[in-house]
Amino acid sequence: MNIAATLSGCDTPSADTPRPVLRERGQREVFCGLTGIVWLHRKMQDAFFLVVGSRTCAHLLQSAAGVMIFAEPRFATAIMEERDLAGMVDAQDELDRVVDRLLSRRPDIKTLFLVGSCPSEVIKLDLAKAAERLGKQHMPNVRILNYSGSGIETTFTQGEDACLTALVPEMPAHVADAPQDLLIVGSLPDIVEDQFLRLFAELGIDNVGCLPARNARDLPRVGPNTRYLLAQPFLAETAMALEGRGAVRLDALFPFGAEGTTSWLKAAADAFGIDEAHFDRVVEPGRQRAKRAISHVKANLEGKRISFLPDSQLEVPLARFLATELDMIPVEVGTPYLHRAHCALELDLIPPSARISEGQDVERQLDRVRADKPDLTVCGLGLANPLEAEGFSTKWAIELVFSPIHGFDQAGDLAELFARPLRRRDVLEV
Ligand code: SF4
Repeated sequence: MNIAATLSGCDTPSADTPRPVLRERGQREVFCGLTGIVWLHRKMQDAFFLVVGSRTCAHLLQSAAGVMIFAEPRFATAIMEERDLAGMVDAQDELDRVVDRLLSRRPDIKTLFLVGSCPSEVIKLDLAKAAERLGKQHMPNVRILNYSGSGIETTFTQGEDACLTALVPEMPAHVADAPQDLLIVGSLPDIVEDQFLRLFAELGIDNVGCLPARNARDLPRVGPNTRYLLAQPFLAETAMALEGRGAVRLDALFPFGAEGTTSWLKAAADAFGIDEAHFDRVVEPGRQRAKRAISHVKANLEGKRISFLPDSQLEVPLARFLATELDMIPVEVGTPYLHRAHCALELDLIPPSARISEGQDVERQLDRVRADKPDLTVCGLGLANPLEAEGFSTKWAIELVFSPIHGFDQAGDLAELFARPLRRRDVLEV
């Protein structure tokens, strides 16, 4: 039996006691960390992701990312054949040959990520060793790094966490007396990143770096005077690595919705001593814009009950946004991993009636959905169709990862993503 569910904490959360979390360790239904390559390869223009994996890995990437017809692709799979898996050839030699061929054909590649998969892990192919060996050959032209996107070790968004963690040791160090700077951590669509950079510049915060940088070669500096804001809630390892370099996390809500975005910007403004009145002058127009956009969708969502099955780790901040700004009622908020410190402010704002769960045991969670009968269930692709067939309205969690949803100007679109399936159901019922 693979069921292991425990309820930790106590029944009524208070300031002194942690909120109870239902912990489950059963069968999972989520994408593996390779999926992160789909958005990371678009973000880092000079990077290439070489998955060392199987045909399954190649199919996953091709179907998730589509085929790049007009541009040179920035990801590929070095497919391990049976003789690799059977140990009949030296997989390290084969990999050297593939990398040499790739880099001689593609001088535009400045950072190469060797990405581990389930098959490479099963045969214990040491990609860290390979990255070190190949790095010696190809530096300074190409930096070679490695991380694991395998489904044994990572779920979905953890691939980004593993990738960014691999970049942290490469970030140049600040000189000891460098002025305080700000680091935005987490991959955002360029248009959203530009909006945030404009707001920080208007606030008077000029030293702002982004991890990942648009060119993996232009990594921002880091040091004890770095204050960082997490843009994504799934970057626990990256945060730990940055703190190992002396950076200090600014505690804030994640930048979803009018209030989340305000809290996120305010944490930076406070750390940089920005005057309160100036903060309001700069931020208030965007905040009001976001509130207006959200209000157009509110009638479709208020009072509606929503359950999240664990998928992207965005579940906790999104449930907070829907509860506080759209008056939705979170019934269950499931997340693959819950970082209590990073999500502490979020958890405080989710109504105590909501069940918070961490990890997955898919059959038990589906049973709870059937018992709870939420108006909307946010879940992975594989669970959406069966639930729809049972009469539940669903939202694909992956859409929330692939759409621009951070910041003031995306708040209305974010609310709309939840309203659409409910409107569709209403139309079908008429
Ligand atoms: S890494 Fe593992 S889970 Fe992911 S596609 Fe490859 S074989 Fe499947």
